Amino acid sequence: MNSNSNEYNILLLPGDGIGVEVVPEAVRVMQSVAELCNFTLKYDEALVGGCAIDATGEPLPPETLELARKSDAVLLGAVGGPQWESLPMAQRPEKGLLGLRSELKLFANLRPALTFPALAQSSSLKLELVSGLDLLIIRELTGGIYFGEPRGVEENNGIRRGVNSYVYNEHEIRRIARVAFDMARKRNGRLCSVDKANVLEVTQLWRDVVIEVHAEYSDVSLSHMYVDNAGMQLVREPKQFDVIVTGNMFGDILSDVAAMLTGSLGMLPSASLNENNQGMYEPVHGSAPDIAGQGLANPLATILSVAMMCRYSLEQPQAADLIEQAVQATLDEGLRTSDIFTEGSIQVGTRDMTDSVLKNVLEIHGNGSGVRTNVS
Ligand code: NAD
Repeated sequence: MNSNSNEYNILLLPGDGIGVEVVPEAVRVMQSVAELCNFTLKYDEALVGGCAIDATGEPLPPETLELARKSDAVLLGAVGGPQWESLPMAQRPEKGLLGLRSELKLFANLRPALTFPALAQSSSLKLELVSGLDLLIIRELTGGIYFGEPRGVEENNGIRRGVNSYVYNEHEIRRIARVAFDMARKRNGRLCSVDKANVLEVTQLWRDVVIEVHAEYSDVSLSHMYVDNAGMQLVREPKQFDVIVTGNMFGDILSDVAAMLTGSLGMLPSASLNENNQGMYEPVHGSAPDIAGQGLANPLATILSVAMMCRYSLEQPQAADLIEQAVQATLDEGLRTSDIFTEGSIQVGTRDMTDSVLKNVLEIHGNGSGVRTNVS
């Protein structure tokens, strides 16, 4: 961790596929805003995922974990690819990611779903439903049914039976609820907690504890919704939401639904934080083996992940605003990678898209705009 409040240690984990293309581009943007906003970044780089398996035999080598523990923030590209898909589950690239999340105790996953005006046409929903959309899904990341015990598949008298356990204790619920109330307080003051309290006892406890924590946040309005209704409401009227908080599995599903409202996977950043605000920042998309190595990948999700890093782990909100405004300006100029290309716009690759973001960072900073504007 940094002792000097203006100097931060960043661990870069490009990973596999397009991860090695988008992370260096995002670093160019990160370095530029650091210089403009007067803070210093020190970088380490390490292996995770498939490339780590090839080099060391394991998806999360101890040296990588050690560097991650010492960092203020981690920027990860993506892991995985067809060449590692036949490995046993415990040795797959994704285990590297899960290992980082659990070892760093990254219990709060933040996934904004924000529609840039220039991209509202790319959504699968009608323009009026998504234009101006700006919601934040907060998913509990280290508990719930993905980690609960007992788990497994057993065979008795020739009949196989599979078991997973949906487990939360009140401490786990309380700390994610606090993150969610804090975020809602900084946004529009509305939190919706999603559960299945009519069927699952564990989520009745979830609801009870969220209501208890609400007593500390009387300025935030709290509502509750069953997960099936939440899925429906997200596609019926997504703008009714400000912040949604939910457990690991429901959050996994709802955040992907919300992702599609915004148009493209290549645009979506995410952050995973622990109790010290140390965070791992990564695009939501995977390693995209179908386009890897061709300079076609959209770097904006990773660049927007750097903006989240500046806001949540480095506490440099001005740098975060600068990046987000520069991305918006780039889209407004009509530049599009192939994943967000529409008739009449200008098709560019990974490098040109980043060059334009960098140019806009300099221009916006030169114009003295450091004030947060709502990018939607
Ligand atoms: P994917 O996100 O890699 O790709 C889905 C589709 O979206 C592909 O057509 C791809 O070309 C496109 N796409 C994704 N990101 C893009 C970008 N930045 N710019 C332009 N187009 C983009 O998902 P997948 O194909 O299901 O998975 C591929 C590999 O990635 C698998 O090995 C999977 O396990 C892994 N994966 C990793 C992560 C992660 O590291 N967090 C997440 C999801 C999938």
